[in-house]
Amino acid sequence: MGAGKKRKERFFRQHPYCCFCGGIRLAETEDHVPSRVFFIKRSRPDDFVFPACKSCNSISSKSEQVTALLSRTSYQSEQIVDAPDFCKLVQAVHNNSKGTFQEMVGPRTGDKIIKRQIRAALGSDDFHLLTFGSNARMHCQLFGAKLAFAFHYKFLGRPLPTDGGAIVSIHNQVDFALNRAPHLEIAFNDIESLRQGKWNSEGQFEYRMSLATDFEGGLFQAFFHKNLLFTLITSADGSKLLNEDVPVHVPGELKPVAEAIDPYRITATISGRFAK
Ligand SMILES: [Zn+2]
Repeated sequence: MGAGKKRKERFFRQHPYCCFCGGIRLAETEDHVPSRVFFIKRSRPDDFVFPACKSCNSISSKSEQVTALLSRTSYQSEQIVDAPDFCKLVQAVHNNSKGTFQEMVGPRTGDKIIKRQIRAALGSDDFHLLTFGSNARMHCQLFGAKLAFAFHYKFLGRPLPTDGGAIVSIHNQVDFALNRAPHLEIAFNDIESLRQGKWNSEGQFEYRMSLATDFEGGLFQAFFHKNLLFTLITSADGSKLLNEDVPVHVPGELKPVAEAIDPYRITATISGRFAK
């Protein structure tokens, strides 16, 4: 038996069940969350690999492309203008999520760097600054739910059950500029990144976390390219989240959900329930 096959068998022995549909289906694949499309040159440390059934593995691929494109289209960075992997990502969203792509490139105040990035990828001038609209937010919600289930599995040690749930709140640079992102520093441990030896994902993907004091759940924040911020709450008892009047994601029912979250509300929801 080859080393790769042995390693795989060991992985599935340690992680027999899919962590995205409540731990009720056998894992068949190793799912990298966040996936390679989020990383420059599709290169990421071999960390945060999760057990998934085929359905849960593949259900988020379009949403990952949309979210990755939003996160990698920085208002500040010129790093990716001609990168082949970035061009492929733009083309993938253009081909696979046409409505969302149209929304993202619809009329809005321009930005020279982003325009240049898109122009390089599409060979076209027919676009403006990426808009973070309702279609894009639905994709980010689906991806964010998967990320929340993954965090829960990693740090609580078992899949979020089918009667558990997760809340996803997303902020971008516009929110940062307008001071609309939640200030939660007091709740969190240090910022971490994916690691493989000395290699880490700093600047591309960073996270911090805190576990709940009065229920089995966690509060997590994930930063992509210092550009897109996900705030995630999980609870093994979904009823803890239901009275917050925001969409609750349920394991096994991954789907795009319209975002109806007042960015401030989530801060009020969680204060005092998490420990360092
Ligand atoms: Zn599954």
